[in-house]
Amino acid sequence: MQIAITSGKGGTGKTTVALGLALTGGPLTLIDADVEEPNCQVLLAGEPMGKEPAKVMVPTFAEDACARCGHCARACRFNALVVGNRGHLLFPELCHGCGACQLVCKHGAIREGEREIGVISRFARGDIRLLEGRLNVGETSGVPLIRQLKRKAVKEDLAIVDSPPGTSCNMVAAVAGANYCLLLTEPTLFGRHDLEAALTVVEALGIPKGVVINRSGDGDGLIEEICRQRGVPVLARIPHDGKLAEAYAEKPSVRAGCRYPGGAEPDPVRCGSGDQRQHRPQGLQSLVGQRDPGLYRFWDDRGRSGGGI
Ligand code: SF4
Ligand code: SF4
Repeated sequence: MQIAITSGKGGTGKTTVALGLALTGGPLTLIDADVEEPNCQVLLAGEPMGKEPAKVMVPTFAEDACARCGHCARACRFNALVVGNRGHLLFPELCHGCGACQLVCKHGAIREGEREIGVISRFARGDIRLLEGRLNVGETSGVPLIRQLKRKAVKEDLAIVDSPPGTSCNMVAAVAGANYCLLLTEPTLFGRHDLEAALTVVEALGIPKGVVINRSGDGDGLIEEICRQRGVPVLARIPHDGKLAEAYAEKPSVRAGCRYPGGAEPDPVRCGSGDQRQHRPQGLQSLVGQRDPGLYRFWDDRGRSGGGI
């Protein structure tokens, strides 16, 4: 099962919530698909388990065998290839590695080469496995890297995908194929506008979805109205509370957030046990089945008072 955490807008708390869900208990894989600025590891502080280069296919040319017919350049939808009298000119950053040029060449003058576009790193903490993608500076698309990341977790029991912000190709690649999508938003006009854009993408992909309102407060009506109109449930709210920001700034925010109202501090990795479990937010609990969604104290408070779920 894959749960994608996304939002149209940056800075709405995707990583915080992705980590919060991950720390409710594994085994699971957390995929940091925000490949232009991955930061799950900053908060998770997992043990490095190795890294490998992420590569895409790029064509290489046997100029001696080339008849200069130009079919390959015409087949390229991305204008990554030019054929001149003296040979080929490839713009590697524009090449999507689709292989169309190789397919149309009748002279066998195009072979497959490789180009490095970034790095995939693995980290572990307890029974949480983190897969992080980091795109090289200057690359125009993170889509191939995100797809490679997700393929590595395809057989996992549970994977949580921290998606990139916005509604661009990177976001679509991160969310596509998820079994459920959590959309983070904030109760501002900006947040509402971007939530609508993200909802449109997720609806087009046919993925079941729910909304989490971060910095929840007086303006929640803005978001509730959209959710009502589009038939999307509000699963949880994270209050606009300075204590949460302080905990986040101290880095082990998730650990701090997992403290329960009684003051008990559960195990940082597998938080929530015994009587504490009765307070867990039901809407989010249903996402992770029998797993233990300890989640945030703040959410618990809301959940118990009936305002959160
Ligand atoms: S299609 Fe093949 S033969 Fe024609 S220009 Fe391209 S590489 Fe050369
Ligand atoms: S592999 Fe695809 S994108 Fe790259 S040059 Fe060939 S046709 Fe163009």
